[in-house]
Amino acid sequence: MRSEECPSPAAVSARKFATRSPQAPNAVRQCWCRLCQYLSAGGGTVNAVFNKDAFHVSGETKVFTSVADSGSVMHRSFCPSCGTPLFSEAESRPQVIIVRAGTLDDPNLAKPAAIIWTESAPKWACFDPALPRVEGQQPAR
Ligand SMILES: [Zn+2]
Repeated sequence: MRSEECPSPAAVSARKFATRSPQAPNAVRQCWCRLCQYLSAGGGTVNAVFNKDAFHVSGETKVFTSVADSGSVMHRSFCPSCGTPLFSEAESRPQVIIVRAGTLDDPNLAKPAAIIWTESAPKWACFDPALPRVEGQQPAR
């Protein structure tokens, strides 16, 4: 069976962002919090933090609001057509947008610099030994 491109303009916009943006991510982390394990269907997620004022989203997205393990209220946007997680916004850090690295045209842009929430990871999880690990939430910077 051939995989089909999602026709959602929102998803396409998120994919194109990385190649259009002159801005490198402020930070990239791999996250193993329980929520990310749900989002990734079992593994950790890779998230690239960008300044929100440089990020434009066109097209329809769906938003789900919840409280993260960190205690922060999160607004998670996803593609209403295919369900792909696109990005999230934390009320505690309104200046940034946290983009799911899988939506970037060039996933090499999102090389993780740290692994967070390792205490929530399953015992079989593999961590890059070259990366620093944080048991819970990394302090915001
Ligand atoms: Zn997480």
